[in-house]
Amino acid sequence: MLSEAPVRYQFDKGRVIVSTGGRCPVGCQYCYTYSPSFVGFPEREPGQVVADLRANAGKFQLVQLGYDTELFLPGKVDSTLQLMRGIAGMGKDISFATRMVLTPPTIDALADIYAGMRGNNSVLVAFESIIGYETARKFERNAPDPEERVKTVHRLHERGIPTFVYVRPLMPVVTDTEIARLFAETEGHCLGRIVGPMIYQREIAERLFGVTADERAVMPWALDQREWNVHLDKRIRSLMASRGAFFRSQDAVNFARLSIGLEARVWA
Ligand code: SF4
Repeated sequence: MLSEAPVRYQFDKGRVIVSTGGRCPVGCQYCYTYSPSFVGFPEREPGQVVADLRANAGKFQLVQLGYDTELFLPGKVDSTLQLMRGIAGMGKDISFATRMVLTPPTIDALADIYAGMRGNNSVLVAFESIIGYETARKFERNAPDPEERVKTVHRLHERGIPTFVYVRPLMPVVTDTEIARLFAETEGHCLGRIVGPMIYQREIAERLFGVTADERAVMPWALDQREWNVHLDKRIRSLMASRGAFFRSQDAVNFARLSIGLEARVWA
């Protein structure tokens, strides 16, 4: 059931995380949203979310769609596109993260949204999430095959949509071979790759990977604003840095802006 409950959006250095809300049914085994204490977005009408954002338009330059659910599940595609269309007229950048295989009509719709934003000093940026091959098959059993997601990266890029491979969260168990293959198969078919830490509930990571947190941190964009466990495998971090990956998604958005002749945003 759709909710009319108010949402306490977190505006952090020019960006705001927004979700279509509700519980995610994909069931990735490491996902922090399955923590009993996790606070996610209520499921709301896209128009209501857009109205909230308009009321706070001076507080952000980038809307990051994702966070606590998958945006492009079959029953959600229309409302996600409706939400994007509503935000697209605001002169703000939009990034979205997905693990789904996007159909040609969906990619066409995204290309139309992007085309409409070009005259408005803003960009639409796609982050296709691929954490590896065997690693994804093992821990994201209900998500599409990573090979199919690589094809989605190619198709988005071919349609001219700024697209990045989202290697987040970096799994402690992903192998150098998987990463090398992922980079090889997307080379020339995307604008770049983004890497980031695994943010998790302690019991989950210890059970799945036998790791403990490198650090604990408040995620400034999270609705609950409490400390999470953060693990960033130093072996992988140095591997990715040597391959020129982005560590912050807002830097990837700026790279996309510069690539089409727009000025970079200042994330202050
Ligand atoms: S698709 Fe995203 S939100 Fe859904 S279970 Fe997987 S990681 Fe969590």
